[in-house]
Amino acid sequence: MSEPKQPFEIAREALKRLAARQLAPTPANYQACYNEIAKLPNIVPFPEPPLRQLAEALVARSPEQKLAVEQLGAAIARRSWQGVQDALLGFVAAAGGPAREPELKILPVLPVEFAAKLARFVECVLPALGDDNERISEMSGEFLHALRQPELDLPAVQGMLANLSHQVLFAAEEQVEIKESLLKLLHLIIENIGELSLDDSWLKGQVDGLLATVVPPLSLRHLDEMERRLRDVMVKQSEAKSRSIEAQEEMRQMLSAFIERLATMSESSAAFQGRIEESARLIEGIQRVEDLAPLLKDVIGATRSMVEETAQSRQQLQVLQEKVLNTEAELVQLHLELDNASALARHDPLTDALNRKGLDEALVREIANMRRKETPLSLSLLDIDNFKKLNDRLGHEAGDDALIHLANIARKCMRPTDTLARYGGEEFVILMPDTPLENGIEVMTRLQRELTKAFFLSGREKVLITFSAGVAQLATEESGADAIKRADQAMYLAKRAGKNRVMAG
Ligand code: GH3
Ligand code: MG
Ligand code: MG
Repeated sequence: MSEPKQPFEIAREALKRLAARQLAPTPANYQACYNEIAKLPNIVPFPEPPLRQLAEALVARSPEQKLAVEQLGAAIARRSWQGVQDALLGFVAAAGGPAREPELKILPVLPVEFAAKLARFVECVLPALGDDNERISEMSGEFLHALRQPELDLPAVQGMLANLSHQVLFAAEEQVEIKESLLKLLHLIIENIGELSLDDSWLKGQVDGLLATVVPPLSLRHLDEMERRLRDVMVKQSEAKSRSIEAQEEMRQMLSAFIERLATMSESSAAFQGRIEESARLIEGIQRVEDLAPLLKDVIGATRSMVEETAQSRQQLQVLQEKVLNTEAELVQLHLELDNASALARHDPLTDALNRKGLDEALVREIANMRRKETPLSLSLLDIDNFKKLNDRLGHEAGDDALIHLANIARKCMRPTDTLARYGGEEFVILMPDTPLENGIEVMTRLQRELTKAFFLSGREKVLITFSAGVAQLATEESGADAIKRADQAMYLAKRAGKNRVMAG
């Protein structure tokens, strides 16, 4: 055991420790070091003044915090460290507390622009579902209203969208069913038209063509084509009917004239016979030659008039016969024409390009050739730009002439082995056998150039026709319909890109 240290020794060491620990030279710190070295308990005095200052500096923002500040004051008065600790923790907890992790809630926000686009989308889609669905109208109305609020209630909007989607799904399914049954109905109607006129081979051809068109999917283009064909059938049918009714009427008139003629002939020959018989009887009773002369004169006169009448009748009969033959020939011609029309059902009567039926047949042929000869086959789908405007400005007839003009220029640009078909109203398909994609695009670009050179004349006005086109080269196993679809999509892109251009599909 060492000797206890002298107070001056402790004081010196305490000063050294204070410096070594880099503590501030306050009486409290010095006392702590002194007590440590002297091994005396370090009794720290209660720092009442700074604690009061702290309590005054605290700003209470809630009744709970106010209570905590009062508790702090009381603890300081009691000189209770535990009380001070409890009051301070209470104050902090009432503020939300740093002891817990701050809850940073990141609320998902729907950008205003997106909400507006969503609203527009809903407005565009709804009419396609029919306007008789009250539930959808109501729900979409609420949804649109919610989307247009300055402060979006996102969870509510989400809920509405989910409900609306559900309803839209049902409605869309219903629309598909409606379309299918409409198609079936149309099929039935057309079939019946066919049944009604089975003896008319021309009409049969047209009806078959129509039936081939009435297949799903039902698109506007499809409907357009159907309407055009139906009109064609109706016009031709009524035309043919009125022409054959006319011819039949002529025949009937000629027949009655013929019968009348026959009647007068037999009448006059009966009269002649009567006169001859009478003359013969008179001749028998005649005694003198000179009495015979007037009788002979009479007989000769009667014979002459009979001969004349017969000749006249023969002549008239000949005329009649010629007429009958002519009418008969006309009827035969009429039937021939109608039969031709059946063959013509493969052609569009306006432009003389192939129609859809003709195109389908040509596609089958060309695809078979492509596979057999292993040569490339390209096809293009072109759609006249702003054709509706042309019709509106210059009239439907000028529109028709423009279609004829385009078909003629196209035929000039094409090779003889190429095929031109009218695909729809103002849409044409060109089949280009033995042609790879790049050359197909060249052909179409050349046609564009030619069209700008060869103005279409409507009256005295020069009209520039342009078109947008998509070109596709058929893949070996691809169907014609799929290739046309690709060309159609490319054509659509050409329209979107500003029209009057050719794009590869
Ligand atoms: P876009 O440039 O987008 O193709 O516009 P567009 O006006 O050409 O196309 P849209 O499909 O809106 O209009 C096509 C028009 O073609 C509508 C129809 O009246 C007209 N049409 C269709 N067939 C014929 C026809 O045989 N003769 C005439 N004169 N017009 C037709
Ligand atoms: Mg079109
Ligand atoms: Mg067009």
